[in-house]
Amino acid sequence: MPQITGSTAASGSGDTNNDRPPNFVVPSRETARRVQAFIAEEPALGPRYARAKEFRRILRQVSNFDVTSRCNLRCEGCFYFEGDDYKQAAEQEDLAIWRAFFEDQAKRGVTFASLAGAEPALEQDRLEIANHCIPRGAIFTNGTIKIRTSINYSIVISIWGDPETTGTFRGGGVFWKALKTHKGDRRARALFMVHAKNIGQISPVTRIVSDFGIPLSFNYFSPTSSYLAKLAANAKNDDEFFRISSREDNFLLTADALERARDTIDDIIDLYPGIVFHTHAFNRVCTDPAGLYDVDPTTGIATNCGGRNFQWHQSYRVDLRPSNAKCCTPNVNCKDCRLNAVALASLLFRLERFVGSIAEFRDWLDICEQYGRSNLLDSDPAWRIDGADLARQTDALCSVAAPNCRDEAERVRDHGWTPLTAGEPARMF
Ligand code: SF4
Ligand code: SF4
Repeated sequence: MPQITGSTAASGSGDTNNDRPPNFVVPSRETARRVQAFIAEEPALGPRYARAKEFRRILRQVSNFDVTSRCNLRCEGCFYFEGDDYKQAAEQEDLAIWRAFFEDQAKRGVTFASLAGAEPALEQDRLEIANHCIPRGAIFTNGTIKIRTSINYSIVISIWGDPETTGTFRGGGVFWKALKTHKGDRRARALFMVHAKNIGQISPVTRIVSDFGIPLSFNYFSPTSSYLAKLAANAKNDDEFFRISSREDNFLLTADALERARDTIDDIIDLYPGIVFHTHAFNRVCTDPAGLYDVDPTTGIATNCGGRNFQWHQSYRVDLRPSNAKCCTPNVNCKDCRLNAVALASLLFRLERFVGSIAEFRDWLDICEQYGRSNLLDSDPAWRIDGADLARQTDALCSVAAPNCRDEAERVRDHGWTPLTAGEPARMF
């Protein structure tokens, strides 16, 4: 078996940031009491809460893997190539080393594999090995290459607008190719990247995606620092990832654009309930002009983001070493970051924010289920949690809400913030 380098082995290595972000807090006793009261008032929320806890357990240790630094497209404003982070790593080509790496990840207790790149579908042997070692995961792809049916991960296909706009920003034929390639593939979910120039296309694109029978949700354009700097400097266009944008005409979601995007997406959610699994609650949170995260004014980095690299959420570059960058999308500017996958994961661990009323709690459950629809296959056992689990659920809540509720460790256990190993503090956002 090939040797994995010390830093690749990761757990506890000097390259991995073991610090828990300062404002990751355990849900309070008061939160537990409120949740119990909501469920007592509306018992149908009980099974949904049980499922939400299961989703958090699934998320308790996620690794992000850049599977390759190669891509068959050249998209305007690309998160991967628009910036220098990817240049730090030479791609590991030895499949045996990839195998040993993923086996090591599984031994470390990684519960979910998030596979991206550049374009992960170009390296399907690596995807297959990952799936063999880590049963749950999602592949983030441009959708133009069919992924082997033997790979049992959800497939998240990015869509950047209607066929013409996609042709301009990504290349001719990309839109239709992605949809035709994944028609009838039960693993596929389409993720429409909404930006200032394609809000008017949300409705027609949803109709097309609906005709192809692919479940759909929305992403919100989140600029890279490099993209912002080029706009600010009124930089000349190049022939790579800044071909079209200008200071006056670009993708940025201003307050006005966010409002238009929110209203349009809200309408679409109601019009296509069978195919659009985006939720009103998530749409509302993501289109708040104030943003999603607390940003440290000194570093400019989000302090309460679920995508940050630390012991329980680690990104790996294509050399299979743990990334020392801030997160899995290091080129993106935290203040404007509304990336779908990271926002969903972060909100799953922010129950405290959603216990002001039963309506807020329902919102949180909606967001958790959107996470599930986006990342888990319909066949995942997590979806089977139902009324039968309610008794166990209620027991857990009672023990938490009791006046003599013992300590943080009990709340951690009962609410799905499960410590990874004995003595290790729990992961939460
Ligand atoms: S498909 Fe993804 S990785 Fe490739 S250029 Fe486009 S945005 Fe970048
Ligand atoms: S860029 Fe986005 S995902 Fe990365 S740390 Fe900032 S807020 Fe989190």
